[in-house]
This record gives sequence, structure tokens and C-alpha cells, in this order.
Amino acid sequence: MTMTVEQTYSNYINGAWKTNAEETKASLNPARPREVVGYYTMSGTRTLDEAVEAAASAKRNWRKMAQPARGDILYKAAALLEKRIEEIAETMTREMGKTYPEAKGETMRGAQILRYYAGEGMRQSGDVIPSTDKDALMFTNRSPLGVVGVITPWNFPVAIPVWKMAPALVYGNTVVFKPAQESAVTAAKVVECLAEAGLPDGVLNFVTGSGSVIGRGLSEHPDVNGITFTGSEQVGRGIGQAALGRGAKYQLEMGGKNPVIVTEDADLDTAVDAVISGGLKSTGQKCTATSRVIIQNGVYDTFKEKLLAKVRDIKVGDGMKEDSWMGPCASESQFKSVTSYIEKGKEEGADLLCGGETIPEEEGYYVTPAVFDNVEPEMTIAREEIFGPVLALMRVETVEEAIETANDTEYGLSASIFTTNIQEFLSFMDDIEAGLVRINAESAGVELQAPFGGMKNSSSHSREQGEAAKEFFTSIKTVLVK
Ligand code: NAP
Repeated sequence: MTMTVEQTYSNYINGAWKTNAEETKASLNPARPREVVGYYTMSGTRTLDEAVEAAASAKRNWRKMAQPARGDILYKAAALLEKRIEEIAETMTREMGKTYPEAKGETMRGAQILRYYAGEGMRQSGDVIPSTDKDALMFTNRSPLGVVGVITPWNFPVAIPVWKMAPALVYGNTVVFKPAQESAVTAAKVVECLAEAGLPDGVLNFVTGSGSVIGRGLSEHPDVNGITFTGSEQVGRGIGQAALGRGAKYQLEMGGKNPVIVTEDADLDTAVDAVISGGLKSTGQKCTATSRVIIQNGVYDTFKEKLLAKVRDIKVGDGMKEDSWMGPCASESQFKSVTSYIEKGKEEGADLLCGGETIPEEEGYYVTPAVFDNVEPEMTIAREEIFGPVLALMRVETVEEAIETANDTEYGLSASIFTTNIQEFLSFMDDIEAGLVRINAESAGVELQAPFGGMKNSSSHSREQGEAAKEFFTSIKTVLVK
């Protein structure tokens, strides 16, 4: 593997990596917090303005480039990302703690997403609409939005930026990308691949720095025509208001409190494996992670024993070690937040059956996977997004009560049911309030060609990925020719 240790990353603006005149900050390894993974720039608003100006100046020529030619650049970026897969995955593991196999899988997914949207370069867009006037031709034509601001979280530092930037670019938008600080070095490497693939100057601009300065500045900037954001609900709401206030198009993908229902008709072993994988991979730091497990009384105790037997065996450690199944929390603030939720769970009367402990001999931000029993709907751990390795078990009598409990949340991202009963699964499909509905499948993950997004406070109700990406990153012009 070719790791560049402690490299300093500057901003990429108008086709050049800038010399660093601004303060830099160290990105640290959550498995060994004294270890620096690299440095990134704490940019100011003047740098942001420069990036937006570059994107605005480049937008006309980029829009006028043939769409298949834009796609070709993405094919090259996919190959470059794949070529650096081991290095980028290692950086990701060292920067935000995800295990190396998961980081490698995510980087591979990034390359697949780039290829999917590269293919979009060759696909038709727009429809011919029959006109009542026999001498007229009426059709729709899609235009890019212009300059798109991309603001991303740290938990999928390759896949999320790529699934926003690839469609934005192929449909003819120029981009200003602000990554999360906790994964800024990994993000810089993704930008290197895109830049090296041959994007013209100004088409992609990369500005690191704090959310309150660069993220906010981007969402309020008068020359930014669209904003795509993934992150917490609180930040997302502010971005939505700022964009709405100045008439920019926006898309917000936010948190989740995802339920899994286990009915008396479920295959319990399958359900246990899905709850573990969906709830604890990536240390539970997925927006689609299973958080509440709602179990019918008749199978509650058996399910619980089977789950505990497996959770207790989970090996927690540095994600670069082969035997680690789960890595640390991504940062000190994540660690503090997760451990305080665990304390809150105990204080409010839920029973901690296992985990929730730090590893005293390790300096990293480790929390062992926690399972709470007897969780009631009004408890904090049943209501707020924890974003960590914590499972809340809740007991219900009927499937109707299970669905009602599942819906008793402000979020509506992903929800699963485990059952072999077709009627149960049909009523779940109808009644559940979630954008991603899973039957006998874990709550986390979705294929890259399928629409992704949530209901209620999980999303601004637009969708990402697949055809939905075209809807967001373009505007329709209805054209009449006489
Ligand atoms: P976050 O704190 O909301 O940060 C997300 C991004 O917004 C970061 O780049 C952050 O920059 C920036 N930001 C912070 N304050 C801002 C402001 N005032 N204006 C504009 N931008 C601002 O979220 P996170 O902790 O990185 O990620 C965890 C959250 O993301 C969870 O709630 C999770 O559910 C959600 N998520 C949702 C999805 C989905 O698709 N629904 C997927 C993954 C994650 P800094 O890094 O500088 O703070």
C-alpha cells in the first residue's frame, strides 16, 4: 500500500491545488488519536467566493460540452479511483475508523457509481409530448442547474460525495464541494481522481473548512444555484431555509431512527444476522443503521438470547487489523455523544444487557456494541438518533402495535420487517412511514441504481440516485416548435 503520511491538502480551485496561505488542521485517527492522517485547510469565505466564481465562470462551457464527453471523464475517474482503491480505503479507515474491508467496499462502490453516471452521458433525456396542434413539435429539454454546492458528512466519505458529484457533473453542472472535516483527507483523494480524469478548470472546486463558515457560506451564496446536503437534521434544516430564501433548488438527506420488526412468523436466525449487520457495521454510524428492534412477545426472549450470543462475540478494534469486525467511533465528539446516550438509557430505566463499554487498554474511541432491553417508546434512546453501536429492544404484542411503534418517530428513512407471513408483509409495506422499506432484509444499504431517501424529518422528500438524480440535478424546459 502506498500511504502518504501527514500530507497537507489545500483547496482545489479553478483547476489548481492552491498553495496554503490559510491555517491547517490535523485529521486524526480515531483508533489512535495522537496519529495524524493528514492536514486540511481551514478556509475562509474569500476562498469560498473564489471557488464559486470559478464554478460560475466554467458553467457555460461545461454545459455546452456534449453529454457523452462529460460521461467519458467520469469513466476515467472511476478507473483512477479503482487504481488507488487500497490507498484510499486505508486512508478512510485511518481517518474515520470504518474497517478496511468496509472501506474497500465503499471505494469500489464509488467507482461503480461513477460508471453508472458515466453511462448516463449516453442516455436520452427529455420526452416528446403530443401537441393538439398538428403543425407543432412539443418536447421537454433538460438543463443543468448551474453551480451546485455539495455538502457531505464523514460516515461515507467516498460514496456520498461521489453519488452527488457524479450526477451533478454528467448533467452539466459545475460543483463546489465541501466535505466533512473528519474525512477531509479521504475526500481530497477523491477530488484528485476526478481532477486527474480531465475535468476542465473550474468545473470541480474543493474547499475544506468548518461547516459554520464554508458550509453555511455555500448554502447562502447568491451564485450557487443548487445545494445537495447529507448530514444531521439540525444542520439540514438551516441549509434548506437558506436555499429556499434565495430560490435555490435544494436536497436534504438527514437522520434516521430505523426500526426492524421481528414477528412471531420470522426466521429468527436470519433476523439476528440482519440486525447485527444493519445495526453495528460501521460502528452503527449509518443513517440507515438499525436502531430500534421491535419484537413480538412470543419470540422476544428467544430472539434476545440468540442476538446476545452473537453480539458478545463481536471483535472491536482498529479497523486496519484483520480480526476487527467493528472499529472505533469516528471522532471524540461522536464517542462522547454515544457514551452519553448509553448513560441516558441506563438513567431512564432501560436494562443494558451487554456492551456500551470503552476498552481501557486502548486509547482509541472504542465503544463495545450495546444492547438495551425493555426500552419504552418515550425513552430518549428510542427517540433520538444515536449514530453509534446501540440497539434498543422493544416488546410488542401484535404486528399492528409493532408498526405503530415503528412509526412513532420524527424520522422515516429505512424500516424492515422479518416475517414469513405475506399478510404481515403487505400491511407493513402499506402502513410503514419510511422511504426505504425492507422485507426480510437489513435496514442498511441500497443499490446504487435505486432511489434513496426518506420521509418525515429524514429528508426534504426528494430522492437521490438512479433516475431521481436526474430530477434533482436538472430543470425541465418545455419547448414548443412551430
Ligand atoms: P453534520 O454535522 O450535519 O455535518 C454534515 C456536513 O454539514 C459537514 O460537512 C459539516 O461540516 C457541514 N455543516 C455543519 N454545520 C453547517 C452549517 N451551519 N451550514 C452548512 N453546513 C454545515 O452531520 P455529520 O455529523 O457529518 O453526519 C452525521 C449525520 O448525517 C447523521 O445525522 C446521519 O443520519 C446523517 N446522514 C444521513 C444520510 C442520508 O442519506 N440520509 C447519510 C449519511 C449520514 P463540518 O464537518 O465542518 O462540521
